[in-house]
Amino acid sequence: MQGNGKIVIVGAGLSGAVIGRELALAGHEVEILDARDHIAGNCHTERDADTGVMVHVYGPHIFHTDDAEVWDYVNGFQTFMPYKNRVKTTSKDRVYSLPVNLHTINQFFGKTLRPDEAKAFIEEQADKTIADPQTFEEQAMRFVGKDLYEAFFKGYTEKQWGCSPTELPASILKRLPVRFNYDDNYFFHKFQGMPENGYTDMIGRILDHPNIHVTLSKRFERAEHADASHVFYSGQLDGYFDYEAGRLGYRTLDFERFSYDGDYQGCAVMNYGDASVPFTRITEHKHFSPWEEHQGSVCYREFSRACGPDDIPYYPIRMVEEKEQLAQYVTRAEKERGVTFVGRLGTYRYLDMDVTIREALDTARLYLSKLADGADM
Ligand code: UDP
Repeated sequence: MQGNGKIVIVGAGLSGAVIGRELALAGHEVEILDARDHIAGNCHTERDADTGVMVHVYGPHIFHTDDAEVWDYVNGFQTFMPYKNRVKTTSKDRVYSLPVNLHTINQFFGKTLRPDEAKAFIEEQADKTIADPQTFEEQAMRFVGKDLYEAFFKGYTEKQWGCSPTELPASILKRLPVRFNYDDNYFFHKFQGMPENGYTDMIGRILDHPNIHVTLSKRFERAEHADASHVFYSGQLDGYFDYEAGRLGYRTLDFERFSYDGDYQGCAVMNYGDASVPFTRITEHKHFSPWEEHQGSVCYREFSRACGPDDIPYYPIRMVEEKEQLAQYVTRAEKERGVTFVGRLGTYRYLDMDVTIREALDTARLYLSKLADGADM
């Protein structure tokens, strides 16, 4: 441990808020800085002034987890309303159900297959010469075959990641299941829901502790916090080191916001699988709060592109080039005394919210136990 000052946390998103609260509860004074003018990072939600619709300002966030402790944790700060994500996708002027399930398969191939028949049928489509899929494309060709891959994954993925699925890791597609029944719940997790008053309200409550002081619109400058007893940094890992090994690649998103007088698409998320449609998906935010009455509607057309220096980073790309750079930054981060790098940006990983909270709880607990042992951090 260095310095005698406060603990400084960079970023008032999920990681920063959860770590801050754990440390505050243990009696520490915590200063949290965020460069933006709001808390909650990319989970930020706010009500549309005209319609009252709760908008997921940085795109759709659906809470899902198998981690009972994390579920209890979030429920301690917010009532979670029942919500199941049932995504649809448009491909070549037809609408299908996602994730790929028995309905999708039967609609797409014009069949009436039962589960076993569908399994055998898809196995016939699959490229069985691929024993150990490494890339996104290999994973798709091995498990759903060419036709479904080209209709639902190829174009969407090219738009989302700005490269060929042959250059992306299989892990990205492994996020999505293939089901041989009519379960169209996008997630398989035991606990799923939507915070009644939005994520910003939930994170505001996590931050609401007398030992926590939040300063917004304030960039972290290392020199200003040289006396901090410890820094938990959830900003961009490469940014902390002034991009000395180059910029880690991110995708950013642009949202084209529009209002609609009624129900625009009848579901929260409609994906667009065709490469000829420039956006990846349309989100109609009111469907994230099915328990509320809404007069109008607010929608986002979502466009993905390479993240420039002044853009908000969303998805870490983690291709070969980034992996080498990342290794350099990780080595530097491990040597940096008095700083712990956390969260999606601080560790450059594609993290779901529940994993972010789990890791934040573990990080805070480890810090407190090391502190109790008098360890050097
Ligand atoms: N994906 C796709 N077609 C779809 C939905 C997803 O090809 O209709 C691919 C795409 O590469 C995406 C990945 O699967 O990045 C993971 O999808 P997920 O829905 O988990 O993405 P997120 O909601 O996190 O952007």
